[in-house]
Amino acid sequence: MSKQNEAAKELTIWEKSDPQILEAFCADYRTFISENKTERECVAGMTKVLKEQGAKDLNDLAADGGTLQPGDLVYADMMKKALLIFRIGEKPVTEGMRFLGAHIDSPRMDLKQNPLYENTDLALFETHYYGGIKKYQWVTLPLALHGVIAKKNGEVVNVCIGEDPADPVFGVSDLLIHLAAKQMGKKVSEAVTGENLNVLVGSRPLPDTKEKEAVKANILALLAEKYGIEEADFVSAEIEVVPAGPARDYGLDRSMIMGYGQDDRVCAYPSFRAILDETAPLYTSVCLLTDKEEIGSVGATGMQSRFYENTVAELMNVLGCYSELNLRRTLSRTKVLSSDVSAAFDPNYPDVMEKNNAAYFGRGPVFNKYTGSRGKSGSNDANAEYIAWLRACMDDADIRYQTSELGKVDEGGGGTIAYILANLGMEVIDFGVAVLNMHAPWEITSKADIYETYLAYRAFLIRQ
Ligand code: MN
Ligand code: MN
Repeated sequence: MSKQNEAAKELTIWEKSDPQILEAFCADYRTFISENKTERECVAGMTKVLKEQGAKDLNDLAADGGTLQPGDLVYADMMKKALLIFRIGEKPVTEGMRFLGAHIDSPRMDLKQNPLYENTDLALFETHYYGGIKKYQWVTLPLALHGVIAKKNGEVVNVCIGEDPADPVFGVSDLLIHLAAKQMGKKVSEAVTGENLNVLVGSRPLPDTKEKEAVKANILALLAEKYGIEEADFVSAEIEVVPAGPARDYGLDRSMIMGYGQDDRVCAYPSFRAILDETAPLYTSVCLLTDKEEIGSVGATGMQSRFYENTVAELMNVLGCYSELNLRRTLSRTKVLSSDVSAAFDPNYPDVMEKNNAAYFGRGPVFNKYTGSRGKSGSNDANAEYIAWLRACMDDADIRYQTSELGKVDEGGGGTIAYILANLGMEVIDFGVAVLNMHAPWEITSKADIYETYLAYRAFLIRQ
């Protein structure tokens, strides 16, 4: 190692990158997560960028008999909620691919199918929470409505209310402290229940009506006027209730970002940028953006869906090398970074962490060899040989990284999509950004970690 390289190793993660480039990347990220809060919005936002970059839709290619060259970008979406992006490599795809796999769904509240009701001259929406939330965190916050309403005539209406500063916002009320003696004596998990999470949306009665529920009638009249929908259309809607407002710089030194749904868009965005910016990979690069991770990776758009394998098969067909055996070989020769978040060490709650195996802000992306709970139950336990390969990859590219576990042994646990990809015989490890307040309405990340993670993903994609 040269003297210069040795000196470079002394630099902190904040010093080793150009601060202007780091800030510019994080500003782009902040804008992205402010404008794309749901899986559908992420797929639409990313597809727009892909089209601008000349990417081809795999379904069109398959239909037209088109071809692909090394360097080409091609993508396929699943039900507008999951996305698979490929950058064709120099080598035949059958030699394996480099996968970055992140998820674009986040914990939230979904409107129920019959959401709207009136009670004591107030109109409210019933919700059903999605993913693991601490329910008490979701009351008395400004909330926004994002989603789609699919009508019987085939029209799909986009809804986004609460983000424009001129928009109204919504919220879930909480009991005033003066009358909360009983509530305050309850366990935190029971103080606010799932059925308490009703979103207040109106209090003004429809004028000149004999309807008994005039406030509800007024809300329906407004929805009919603005979106051309009727009450029954909620049955075929997917409306997500999320924190209102943009992501912000956090801290006097602006070293952090506070934003909704950084689990896992803080890994999804650097993964996406990495595949856009590494334009001539040796191995075919893949950026996988999946849905339903927060509820077990289930359903047609979740990681367990055959969509992902089917799409690789379609790609191989376009490349002229599809056979069932070739598909299996390609998958099993593929290396994966499951780009998902880790828990950052919180000085307010040090007791749940074991300090030698915890993740810290400003120390770079985090490897989790295994997740799961109890005796590593439900975990993908990455191979030592693969981790050694990754250490060499990161060290050669001067990437700072750390390793951690999700808390102390037997303290709790969690999982990612890693084990599902590992089921295909791939080398897989979790590798992503450390997050404070994970799954809270507003999550915190370190800008230096975000940028370093992006550099790490690029290094991985081009490693020989
Ligand atoms: Mn996650
Ligand atoms: Mn999560």
